[in-house]
Parts: sequence; C-alpha cells; structure tokens
Amino acid sequence: MTESNAIVVYDPDLPIHMKDGMVLIESTLNNFKTCKLCKNTACKFFQICENGCISCENCEDFFDSTRRGNKCKQCKGVTLDKPLYNKAFSEIAEKVSDISVELNHGLQQIKNHGYVTEGMANGETAPNWVPISRDQAMKEAMIFLKNDPTLQSINLPKKKKNGAPSKEDFENEEDWNKEMEKYEEKKIERSENAKERKRKLENYDILVEELEECKKKIARLESVCDSNPIKFH
Ligand SMILES: [Zn+2]
Ligand SMILES: [Zn+2]
Repeated sequence: MTESNAIVVYDPDLPIHMKDGMVLIESTLNNFKTCKLCKNTACKFFQICENGCISCENCEDFFDSTRRGNKCKQCKGVTLDKPLYNKAFSEIAEKVSDISVELNHGLQQIKNHGYVTEGMANGETAPNWVPISRDQAMKEAMIFLKNDPTLQSINLPKKKKNGAPSKEDFENEEDWNKEMEKYEEKKIERSENAKERKRKLENYDILVEELEECKKKIARLESVCDSNPIKFH
C-alpha cells in the first residue's frame, strides 16, 4: 500500500493539545483525497481490482495487460471488468476534507482571537480557564478589586473635598450636621486666611514702593555730592 509521504506541518503557535489530532486528520485527508494510482486529488473513487484497490476519475489506465489477462497496476491482483464507483470511499473522502477545513478554521480563530465558550458568546463571563485579552483581564481585575470585601473593610481616608459634605455620604442626619458645622468653620478659616494673605501682599507692595523712593533719594543726594565735592585743606 502506498502511503502518502507529504510532510504535515503543524503551526507552532497553535495549541499543542490539538497537534496529534490535526496531524492525523491531515495525513488521513491525504490518504483519502489523493489517488494512490495517479497521485492526483480527486472527488470520485472507483474500485478496480478484487483486492479493493482504488482509482479515481482522473485515472486513465489502471491495469497492465499480460498474457494471463489484466493485472491490477497496484497489487498485481485480478482486475474487475470495469471500475466500480465506490460511493462509501468517495463520501468519506469528502467528509474528511470537510472536517479538516472546519478544524483548521476553528484553530485559526483560536490563534487570532483566543477562544470563546458558548456561554461567553451569549454574554456570560469567561470561565476561569479561558484565556482572555490583556485589556479585558485588566478591566475584570479593576472590577474585582472595587468589589473585593477584604479591601472594602479597610477604611481609606476620604478624599478631601472642597465642596460641602453631601447628605448621602452620612448614615444619619446628626453626623451630617456635625460635618456641615466643621465645613462652615473651615470655610470661615479659609476666607480669613485668604484675607490675611491679601493684607500681607498689600503691605509688601507699600514697602517696595517706599524702598524705591528711598533709592531715588539716595541717588539724588549722591549726584549733589558729586557736583559739589567737599574740598579738604
Ligand atoms: Zn487516479
Ligand atoms: Zn489491486
């Protein structure tokens, strides 16, 4: 029996678990779809001898004429009077071809996009063991951390807000009122501080002005001294 010796290469980026199965499918496909006799790819196959050797629609001669009659080219056995269409073989060859196409398509999808379970396709979350994209994983991690009960028990200091405390943030009105009082006090304190700052700045401006006046006076006095030098005897 002639074995197909086509080398089946399995893409190394595909899941390793599928390698043996895919190599087997490809070699089976080669065996079924390639005619043993003429080596062409075919769709219709025929039985040609008593031993069951197969030819295809492309084959022209499948026997050798000898003095003792026709002999099968493949097994040298007795040939049939005429090739018989082998329906089962032809159909299986077609099916193996379909299976190979489907599996290869599926594997390419996995390679390019990861894989999706039926649940995921229906909008459910991915099971633990399904690889998901980095972005999706980050998103899910953020959601998880936000809702993690062990983290929620840690009271993070409330972010300091400049606005008035919102009533919704408090369990009862009393607490909220206390917080409002504190907020009003802080507000007054802040405005006092702002006034003080403004006052200091104004004071500084006045001092700068006075300094400039003094500098001018000194310059004037110096020029008077230069034009009327004091003479020493
Ligand atoms: Zn053939
Ligand atoms: Zn034969």
